[in-house]
Amino acid sequence: MSDIRVRFAPSPTGYLHVGGARTAIYNWLFAKATGGKFILRIEDTDRKRYNEEALHDLIRDLRWMGLQWDEGHEAGGDFGPYQQSDRLEIYKKEVFNLVQSGHAYPCFCTEERLESLRAEQKDSQNDFGYDRHCRDLDPVVAQQRIEAGEKFVVRFKTPLDGATVFNDLLRGEITYQNNTLDDLVLLKRDGYPTYHMASIVDDHSMKITHVLRGDEWIASTPKHVLLYAAFGWTPPIFCHLPVILAAGGGKLSKRKGAASVGDFRDLGYLPEALFNYLALLGWSPGDNREEMSLAEMAEAFTLERIGSSAVSFDEKKLLWLNSQHLAKKTPLEIMPYFKSVALQNGLDLQKTSETDLLKILSLVIPRARLTLDIFDIARPFFEAPKAYDDKLVRKIWNPAAAEVLQKLVDVLKSLSSFGVQDLEASFESVAQVLDLKPGSFNQSVRLAVSGAGGGPSLFEMLELLGQQESVTRINQAVDFINGLK
Ligand code: GLU
Repeated sequence: MSDIRVRFAPSPTGYLHVGGARTAIYNWLFAKATGGKFILRIEDTDRKRYNEEALHDLIRDLRWMGLQWDEGHEAGGDFGPYQQSDRLEIYKKEVFNLVQSGHAYPCFCTEERLESLRAEQKDSQNDFGYDRHCRDLDPVVAQQRIEAGEKFVVRFKTPLDGATVFNDLLRGEITYQNNTLDDLVLLKRDGYPTYHMASIVDDHSMKITHVLRGDEWIASTPKHVLLYAAFGWTPPIFCHLPVILAAGGGKLSKRKGAASVGDFRDLGYLPEALFNYLALLGWSPGDNREEMSLAEMAEAFTLERIGSSAVSFDEKKLLWLNSQHLAKKTPLEIMPYFKSVALQNGLDLQKTSETDLLKILSLVIPRARLTLDIFDIARPFFEAPKAYDDKLVRKIWNPAAAEVLQKLVDVLKSLSSFGVQDLEASFESVAQVLDLKPGSFNQSVRLAVSGAGGGPSLFEMLELLGQQESVTRINQAVDFINGLK
């Protein structure tokens, strides 16, 4: 156990982007590596963008990835509630404290006034933000206006000069001139705090020691540091994670392909492979290991080994990692998934024994790169091909091929046992009789029984299909070839 406490603090406004998932992963790994605590906090103070379904999906996606949190939303803990909309009184009290200590002030400027201010600034190309119109209002007058029921927000009294300096674990010292920072809103008209306010009150009261988040938040950090100072609190350690770019550059977005955890799940990626890939997108274990389990990553993880430059998403590498993780799965582990996909696709597994199903999966798994491939590769074990690979048909099926298949059918029909060795011997004898090279017609048989040129071991496949089904399929292929013009 250590006193390290980190949090993942998503705003449930849409799907869980892989960038967000990687932030969660680094927080989780850091907590595991240091014996600390990983906390899930829901930042739902932007009521216009809040979406109940997104929250539900977020929880499902985090769990699917294996990112179990020690404390937080639904899990509970000593520092709750963990959903910001349940903490409004806490923020109000802290905002009030800042007003009392002279670090914040009520601002009565109407939306219309702010709107015309923005328009003016746009015209003069001078974007200095809020003009601090209410900053020096007499507190007594301000109080009277509040009591009279006037609507207001509370703003932070950002220091007008000097600089704010903070340290980022990956980038070192970062300095912002205070005169470039706005008097940011802390409490909105609807009584909800802004992200900045809620986030630092929570990070402080939940005893967060390290803030690991995407580097799009760097510009917010000086504001947070000023708030910590105003409260007299010690800020946590900041570590802003490098951005993930799409393969061809630019932001990784749905428009450019899969971008959310849900997209990759639907494509047939395994959670542990996606986890592994995202972990390596910006971090390395310091040796040449790539395929790693969650436990191995948790053991090797250090913040020092996170790079500071942008990283590009490489779906080919993710696919490769997925096949590595998939190859490690046992048929028994894959069985429930396979059965459910078979059911969804109307594939009849009833006639196949459980033992044969396991055998089929053991042949199929090593050839699959995505879980969805398992279904496609296994399909011929349960269904005769509805079509043959056109390119291959034109390449290898001609009258001579039909004769070979016919000869083979004759031999296969006469077999009294249909095991791999019997089949091998039959193929050899047909090759001999027809003076062909051994193996020269295997692909033709494969095409006949599965409709495609590749797939699991041919003899094992024939054995599992059984004598009758194999013969029927090869006969059908012979008819098909004879019908070709
Ligand atoms: N709610 C913010 C988000 O959606 C959290 C930023 C932070 O980690 O401070 O990413």
